[in-house]
Amino acid sequence: GPNLPDLLVVGSGFFGLTIAERCASELGLKVLVLDRRHHLGGNAYSEKEPTTGIEVHKYGAHLFHTSNQKVWDYVTRFTTFTSYQHRVFGKYQGQIYSLPMNLGLINQFFGKAHTPEEARDLIAEQASEFDTDGAENLEEKAISLIGRPLYEAFIKGYTAKQWQTDPTELSPDIITRLPVRYTYDNRYFNDTYEGLPTDGYTAWLTRMADHPNIEVRLETDFFDVREEYVGKVPIVYTGPVDEYFDNREGRLSWRTVDLEESVVDVDDFQGTSVVNANDEDVPYTRILEFKHFHPERVKTHLPGKTVIVHEYSRFAEEGDEPYYPINTAEDREKLLKYRELAKREPMVLFGGRLGTYKYLDMHMAIGSALSMYENKLKPHFAAGAELTSGGVDE
Ligand code: FAD
Ligand code: UDP
Repeated sequence: GPNLPDLLVVGSGFFGLTIAERCASELGLKVLVLDRRHHLGGNAYSEKEPTTGIEVHKYGAHLFHTSNQKVWDYVTRFTTFTSYQHRVFGKYQGQIYSLPMNLGLINQFFGKAHTPEEARDLIAEQASEFDTDGAENLEEKAISLIGRPLYEAFIKGYTAKQWQTDPTELSPDIITRLPVRYTYDNRYFNDTYEGLPTDGYTAWLTRMADHPNIEVRLETDFFDVREEYVGKVPIVYTGPVDEYFDNREGRLSWRTVDLEESVVDVDDFQGTSVVNANDEDVPYTRILEFKHFHPERVKTHLPGKTVIVHEYSRFAEEGDEPYYPINTAEDREKLLKYRELAKREPMVLFGGRLGTYKYLDMHMAIGSALSMYENKLKPHFAAGAELTSGGVDE
């Protein structure tokens, strides 16, 4: 009909907006983006806490980092980045340690100065209890890599809280490579590029959508309007894949995070942006203090106050935000069935974190959308190639 767009994108997160931007800017297509939330941007959305002026990432702390040159060249068209480097600290039995495991943490924990070589020998001896290749669960695997004392202090309680499952019942794959650095380097990421968007995430995301051929329609659920579009225009769907098929193969399982935000009357609550709570009997997993993500904005923040967020992790029930795919054997079986259904769905491509049931960092979601554009959408729109899905990313 005359009112149909050339392309419908369901979801205005990084995946959906990258698709929309490429198709509108490079191919001149008219793109309609739907989102059921009241704002664009998906889980990377942020806004300023109104009384303090401090930017808060509303769906949990988002740190941008990538080593992918193509992604970096693309994202820097829409934003500059600050020189923020992420570092994480952990609180255990009344002391603060610097993560990830490094020489500073080892020396503090064991109360003694070790050279890099002495620390290596110490950990090798403590890790000899289990053989890494023969490890049958997360606990055995972690102990085989870092030894029992460090495991019990920094991994056991935290992991039990994150997954609500005893570490002896979790897959060893969750901790494929636990880094231990025998230096004092405590940077959290190893990527070539790292930083936070200078004007915030929402400004960046809004610029991606700022094109005369892109219309973003908020508070609109695709499932209320699907008959108007399915089979009529190409669709890129970035919502949950099980939901698209009415959960007919069963629900995929996710963890969600409850974020309890508060404004407190101190100028500086914890001196850094993220402190993990490694004690098992502390109910939250970590505390975020958002002003520390942007030290360069200190003059714009209301003095004497700060915004903190306590994070609590739990299984997602119906109606909760799906955050991390749990990916049990049962989930993987269901996912294979959904991928088959996705392949047979005419003119619909499934993408993004929810559409593929994969934990994707932002740079991965953007990179994956750029590939879908190059390999599927551009050949279709520019050269008439059939829009076969190949469905969910494989
Ligand atoms: P999303 O951002 O989830 O967007 C999907 C959109 O689709 C949503 O806006 C949703 O409302 C919409 N939608 C779904 N169904 C429908 C429907 N039926 N109708 C209309 N709209 C619909 N990445 C990093 O790189 N660094 C980090 O530090 C980091 N931290 C994270 C912390 C947490 C707690 C979480 C959950 C994720 C984190 N990520 C991080 C990952 C990052 O959020 C994702 O890479 C990114 O959000 C993926 O974008 P997306 O477009 O695939 O999905
Ligand atoms: N982890 C841990 N202790 C920590 C930090 C991480 O045991 O202090 C383990 C835990 O199993 C967690 C995994 O490492 O699920 C990944 O942690 P990270 O904080 O990097 O993941 P995020 O929740 O930020 O995605």
